[in-house]
Amino acid sequence: MKIQRDQFSGMTPAIDRAAVIGAGSMGAGIAAQFASAGIPVLLLDIPGQDGQRNGPAEAGLQRQLKTGGFMHPAAAECITIGNTEDDLALLADADWIVEAIVEKPDIKQALYARIETVRKDGSVVSSNTSTLPRARLVSGLPPRFDRDFVITHFFNPPRQMQLVEIISGPGTAPATTAKATLAAENVLGKTPVMARDTPGFIANRIGCHWLAVGVIEAFRQGLTPEEADAAAGRPFTVPGTGVFGLMDLVGIDLVPTVWGGLEAMLPPTDELNVYRLSQDPALAAMVAAGLHGRKTKAGFYRTQNGVRETYDPASQTFRPFRPADPAGNDLKALCETPGKAGAYAWTVLSEVILYASTVAPEIAGDIAAIDTAMRLGYNWGKGPFALADSVGVAWIAQRLASEGRAIPPLLARAAALGGFYTQDGYLSTTGEAIRPDLKAGMVSLPSRAAGAAALLSTPSASLWDIGDGVACLELHAKRAVLDPSVFDALDRTIAQIPTHFQALVIGSEDPRAFSTGTDPNLLAALIDSGDFAALEATLRCAQDSLFALKRSPFPVVAAAFGQTLDGGCELILHCDAIVAHAELAAGMPGVKSGLLPAWGGCAQSLLRSGSGALPPEALQRLFAGLLSGQISGSAHWARDMGILAPGDTITMNRAHLLADAKARAIVLAKAGYRPPMPASLSVAGQAGAAILMDWANAQPDGTNTDKTIAAHLATVLTGGNAEKGASVSEDAIRTLEREAFLGLVRLPEIQARIAHLAKTGKALKN
Ligand code: NAD
Repeated sequence: MKIQRDQFSGMTPAIDRAAVIGAGSMGAGIAAQFASAGIPVLLLDIPGQDGQRNGPAEAGLQRQLKTGGFMHPAAAECITIGNTEDDLALLADADWIVEAIVEKPDIKQALYARIETVRKDGSVVSSNTSTLPRARLVSGLPPRFDRDFVITHFFNPPRQMQLVEIISGPGTAPATTAKATLAAENVLGKTPVMARDTPGFIANRIGCHWLAVGVIEAFRQGLTPEEADAAAGRPFTVPGTGVFGLMDLVGIDLVPTVWGGLEAMLPPTDELNVYRLSQDPALAAMVAAGLHGRKTKAGFYRTQNGVRETYDPASQTFRPFRPADPAGNDLKALCETPGKAGAYAWTVLSEVILYASTVAPEIAGDIAAIDTAMRLGYNWGKGPFALADSVGVAWIAQRLASEGRAIPPLLARAAALGGFYTQDGYLSTTGEAIRPDLKAGMVSLPSRAAGAAALLSTPSASLWDIGDGVACLELHAKRAVLDPSVFDALDRTIAQIPTHFQALVIGSEDPRAFSTGTDPNLLAALIDSGDFAALEATLRCAQDSLFALKRSPFPVVAAAFGQTLDGGCELILHCDAIVAHAELAAGMPGVKSGLLPAWGGCAQSLLRSGSGALPPEALQRLFAGLLSGQISGSAHWARDMGILAPGDTITMNRAHLLADAKARAIVLAKAGYRPPMPASLSVAGQAGAAILMDWANAQPDGTNTDKTIAAHLATVLTGGNAEKGASVSEDAIRTLEREAFLGLVRLPEIQARIAHLAKTGKALKN
C-alpha cells in the first residue's frame, strides 16, 4: 500500500512538498498529517548523540506510529527524516516550512535566520507557537521573511484536533496567508480560523480565562471539584470533564508557564490578571507536591487502589469522591436555581460572556471565528456567543444590568438585535451584521429544521437538488439507520433522477455517521417474531433496491464519512464511486454477531477486490477481516480492506466531502456514464472454502459459534458448492447471502448474539 496524492479528491493542493522542524509531539504530529495527505514531508530535529544523527526525528516519527498519529502506517513512507545540522539545505524543496520547536523566542529566531539562507522564494514559513506574538518572532529578520511568515497554531493531537489558528501581521503578503490557509484546509483537512496577533490568540485566551474563572470561583464560593464540574460541565456544553477534570487533563504543572505567561503579556486590567490563576496558593501547593493531574496519576482527582478520590485544597489531602447532584442541561434554569450550584453557574456564564464580548474585537474579526475556535480547539459544544444566544442574550444583559455590571458594546448590540446570530448571519466583533457566503464550489444541504422542502422526503431520507444537474439523497435518521422508509426514498429516487438530474450523490452533513445499517433492535424483533418468510422478503427487497441503484442509468457517488457500518457499508459498495472522508470508519462488524452481509455486500466485496477470482491470500484477508468485525481506522485502511476501489478518492476536509462527491458525479456523467453489466465471478469453490475453514479452525480463540459463522461466510464467498474456478453470477451470490443469513439467524446461539448486540451495541462471545 502506498499513499500518494492522486488518491485524493478536491482542488489542486496549494503545496507539493512540506517540511517540519521539531519532531516533538506537535511537529511529528503535523508531519504525520501531511504524510497522511500524501504530501512528501521532511522532518528535522536537532542532531542526536552517539552517532544517531537523526535519532530525535526518528524517535518523533516512531512515537506517531505508536500513538496513531498516521492515518495508515504506510503514510510514514512520505516522511524523510533528518537533522538541522546536516540536512538544512533540503528545506529548499519545501513549499511550506512549519517550525514546531521549543517555545523559546531566541532559539526560534536563530533557526529562522538559518532557514532564511536556504529556503526558496515564495515558500511559506510558519510557527506553531502557542504564546509568542508574531511581531516578536519576526523582529530583526529580513523583510522577505516577514512577508512569507505566519503563525499556524495547531492543537494537540494534530490528527484529531480540527482547529488551526492563523495569524498574519502587517508585513505578511496576502498570498502567504492564502497559501497557508488553503493548505491547512484542503491538504490537511483542518478548519483555519483567522486570529489577531494577541497573547493566546483566540482559543487559549478565552479557554484559559474560562478555566481560571471556573477554578478560582469554585474556591471562593465553596464548591467541591465535583460540584463545580457538574455545574460548569454539561450545562455549558463543554466536555464532561468540567473545569477541574480538564485541569487534570491539561496538567496543573502548566499553570505557572501557560497562565503565568499569558498574565505577563496582558495588561493588569485584563480579567486573566484579575483572576491570576498562576498566583493561586492552592495550585502552587499542588504543583510543588507533584500533583500535576493525569500525567502524575493524581491531581484534583485520582484513583487509588481502585477507589476514586478527590483532592481537598483546604486540607491538602484526598477524600473519597462524592458525586454531585446532576445539574441538568438547561443552563438558564440552572443559573436561576437558588443555591451554590446556580450561583456558581451564573458567575461562570456571566464572566465568560463578559470577557468574550470585551476582548472579541481585539482577538478576531467576527464572533463566528471565536465560537469555531472554542468548539474545535476546546471541544465546547457551543462557543461563548452561541451559548449566550441559546440562554438568551437579553436575559443575560438584563441580569447583568440589575447587578450593576457594565455591559460591553458588543453584548449590548447583540441584546438589542436579539442575539449574536441572526437568521442570515452573525455579528462582526464590532457589531456589524455579516452575511456569510457559501464558498465557491461548496455544497450545503438545505435545513429541514428550518422548513426547507425537499424534492421527496420520508421520515429517514430526503432528496435535494444540489445544483448542476446533481441530486443528493440525505440519510437523516438517528445514526442514519437504513429502515424501510430509506428504501422507499431510494426506490423513488432511482425512478425520478433520470427525468431531472444527471447524477446522484448519497451523503449528509451529520458529524458522525454516514449510516450504521439496520437498527439491530428492529432486526432482533423480526427474528423474535419467528417470521422468517417476512425476513427473507425484507432481505430480498433491500437487495433489489441496492442492485437497482447499481444498475441505474445515472452515476451514483457515495460521500462516505464517519461510521459507515454493516448495511451502510453495503450501500456504498453498490455505488459507482466512493468519495470518502479521510477519517472513515467503514466495515461490517455485524458479522461477529452472525449478521452476514446479505444486501449484496459479499458479492460487491468480491467484485471490488478484483474480478472475483481473488488470489487465495486476498480472499483469506477479506474472510478474516469480515469475521473479525474489522472497521477501518481511516479511509486508507478502508482501501486496504478493499472497501475503496483504486479509483475511489479521499477528501481530507469533512466540510468539502459533498462538494467533492458532486464534482466526481459530474465527471462520471460527462464521461458518458453506462451502468455496469451484471457480473460473474470466478469463484474459489469448495477447495477455497476448505482453505478458509482450515484457517478459521486454527484460530485459538474461536468458539463453536464463531466457526459456525465462518462456515456460512466461507460458503458465500467461495460461490457455494461450486467447483474451483466456476463462473457464478452476482445474483447467485446474493441468493447464497440470503440463505446463509437466514440459516444463521435461526440458530439459538446466533439469536443470543443478536439480542446482546441490540441491547448493548456489543458482540457477545458465546
Ligand atoms: P516538544 O518539546 O514535544 O518538541 C519540541 C521538539 O523540538 C523536540 O523534539 C526538540 O528536540 C526540538 N528542538 C528544540 N530546539 C530545536 C532546534 N533549535 N532545532 C530543531 N529542533 C529543535 O514540544 P511540542 O509540544 O511539540 O511544542 C512545539 C511547539 O508547538 C511549541 O512552540 C509549542 O508552544 C507549540 N504548541 C504545543 C502544543 C502542545 O499541546 N504540546 C499545542 C500547540 C502548540
